Parts: sequence; C-alpha cells; structure tokens
Amino acid sequence: MSTCRCGEPAVVQWKRRPSTEELEHLQAVAEGQLEAADRVDEVPLPTVEDSFIAVYACADHAISADSAALTHQATCTGPGKSGACDCTPEQPVGDMFPGPESPSRLPPGW
Ligand SMILES: [Zn+2]
Ligand SMILES: [Zn+2]
Repeated sequence: MSTCRCGEPAVVQWKRRPSTEELEHLQAVAEGQLEAADRVDEVPLPTVEDSFIAVYACADHAISADSAALTHQATCTGPGKSGACDCTPEQPVGDMFPGPESPSRLPPGW
C-alpha cells in the first residue's frame, strides 16, 4: 500500500517530474525491458517529458485538488501548511496525457 512521507496511509496522489537520478533509473528499467523484448532499436527510451513520479499523501499532507491535477516539478517537496506546494506546476497541455497510468480526464472536484 502507498504511504505518505509521514508514514500514514495515502489518500491522495499526484505526479511530478523525475529528478535526474530517477530518470536514469526509469531509462535503465526501460532499456532492460526493451533488451529482453529485443526492441532496443525500435522504441525510444523515456525522457523527462514523458516520465512521471507518483507522489502519495495522507489527508494532512495533501495538496489542493486543483494543484494535484497538475504535473509538479522534480524539486517539488509537497505542500506546506496552506495546502500549496513550493514549485510552479506545469499547466496541462490539452488532453495529451502520456503514460498508461494517467487518466485522460479527472473527475469533477479533482
Ligand atoms: Zn502525511
Ligand atoms: Zn509542486
């Protein structure tokens, strides 16, 4: 089960960009999978533009629903007391949500 950074069970989730180290890890995993499938030459490795890291939080450490709908920077440390975080999230680009885990639309209120 996913937990908040404080150890409580997570109730909300949003996403942020991977750091350099996280992106290298994602690329290493993808490269391993492509090598196993013998498709290294066909499929490009993930870039920072199409990679996301899921962030989980409990009710006390959640950001606002509006903010959770956006993609946060790799440096984002999550919300402060006000429910706002310290980064400038990316604005959504139409309905283009790369990645199989991302819903194409969020339900009302999110
Ligand atoms: Zn928490
Ligand atoms: Zn943020």
